[in-house]
Amino acid sequence: MRILVVSDIHANLPALDAVLAAARSGGGFARVWSLGDTVGYGPQPNECLERMQGLGALSVAGNHEGAVLGQLPLSDFNPAAARAIEWTVVQLSGQMTDYLRTMPARLEESDVTLVHGSPRDPAWEYLSLARQAADNLASFTTQGCAHGHTHVPAWLSVEGQRMAGGRPGEGTTVKIGRGRFYLNPGSVGQPRDGDSRASYAVVDLEVRRVTFRRVPYDIRETQRLMQAAGLPAVLINRLSIGR
Ligand code: ZN
Repeated sequence: MRILVVSDIHANLPALDAVLAAARSGGGFARVWSLGDTVGYGPQPNECLERMQGLGALSVAGNHEGAVLGQLPLSDFNPAAARAIEWTVVQLSGQMTDYLRTMPARLEESDVTLVHGSPRDPAWEYLSLARQAADNLASFTTQGCAHGHTHVPAWLSVEGQRMAGGRPGEGTTVKIGRGRFYLNPGSVGQPRDGDSRASYAVVDLEVRRVTFRRVPYDIRETQRLMQAAGLPAVLINRLSIGR
């Protein structure tokens, strides 16, 4: 089974649609895992949620979902993020707000734990250091952990005391071995690794491989919609540079 793994879509529909089209033409997928922050920052929260619901995606909640549902205080966010969350709350349909409420903080499927931040702190921990990865191993029991939140794609395998991995670029394929692993597909809607293209990963459970992908999308269209919505300029500008 091939699984499309996405995270941090952030209400960026042109980016999400580019990812879905590329993943379909690149071999297709039977299942979608979404690792949180489907909304926030971007201009099309309802449309992105409808897309994911239509795909029957297995979705966990991120910190932006938590804030939109009033479960996390806005004071935990920077001013631009908080303003976008307030805007999102007004925009969201009742149906899509209900859909957000169905998303748990963590899920398990195919021996992989799905979280937004980290297994021990799903809403907030930015899991980017080997030390954090080691400290989180006791907080999940599956072989793998798929997470997002950093907006930077990453792969880390753990075999005994040995850790190996890094930041995979477009087209990088890694093998799922016998040890445990962490998989971060990067961000669909607001990449922060200096590459403005939408980021995603495909897990192939048959051959036990993960492929990391980047795909260009119409950034200007998203920026145009953000401008029209009156979203903060800092959020609009960062899409061009992928930071
Ligand atoms: Zn995010």
